[in-house]
Amino acid sequence: MSNDAHACESQPDHDGVSIRGEPGRESLDQPGPSLERKAKLFALLYSSHEVDRRFRRIHEAMLDQSPQIRAADFTVIGTDDLERLFAHYDREFFQGRLGEMLIEDGSHPAAFRLSRRLTSAAGQTLRRVRRVNQGGRSAIRVDYEITVSTTLLYNTFAGHERTVTVGGLVCSDRLEALQRIFEHELLHLAEFLGWGCSNCKASNFRALSRRLFAHEAPHHDLITPREQAKAAYDIQLGDLVSFEVEGVRRRGVVNRITRRATVLVEDHRGRLYSNGKHCIPYYVPLALLRKENGAS
Ligand SMILES: [Zn+2]
Repeated sequence: MSNDAHACESQPDHDGVSIRGEPGRESLDQPGPSLERKAKLFALLYSSHEVDRRFRRIHEAMLDQSPQIRAADFTVIGTDDLERLFAHYDREFFQGRLGEMLIEDGSHPAAFRLSRRLTSAAGQTLRRVRRVNQGGRSAIRVDYEITVSTTLLYNTFAGHERTVTVGGLVCSDRLEALQRIFEHELLHLAEFLGWGCSNCKASNFRALSRRLFAHEAPHHDLITPREQAKAAYDIQLGDLVSFEVEGVRRRGVVNRITRRATVLVEDHRGRLYSNGKHCIPYYVPLALLRKENGAS
């Protein structure tokens, strides 16, 4: 899930819908995507009242069952929580169909990851296609991996809040945001399983997201490191800053903000950047930057 509806492919840590080594359909040994699957997934339809009821049930179940998530604004989460969420969502919203299709395709279980490195996309769903040796003959194996950004979750609901939406819906705590991010990624998984490809900018995804989860938009506005840098340090892209390296103060321009800032420092030994200057990039924690006045 991206924070920009149009950024899926262009962001460096993009909202993932990656298909590697896509084989010809005929070489798949498993049932795979089909018209029947599309119909089954499209038959799932909940009113917004029903979505809310099921959503709340999962919210409460997570607080009840997770050894880590003890409060709605939790500070610890494990990958087992994502497995738990998957089980709840598959039962409450997909009538067990995701699990069934994963098993049919020999792709069960899907893998779940938490990542600090996703700093723009809140989640990512990958489909990996590999050729494997099965009893002496070559077969195709499809695997899925869903990743959720802990950087964005922990940046948000940290006490200095503006209204936060995910999927176009207002979230009032960290667990709600996690659920909405997860819903978006499950829609990618459902599309992969039913259609063989997935794109959250396309109408099919939008229709599914409305029918299943009453989502109003495919993006989020969780607090990114870039926004946090502006609020906490008044630092944004293009700012002239200085920092100290081994006793030497260097000046440069902020070029990227993730968990750290990338600062381009002019140096004839560096490579040529689009600003027409030779620079060396430094990766500096935001707290160590000093904002400078003047032109770069
Ligand atoms: Zn997406």
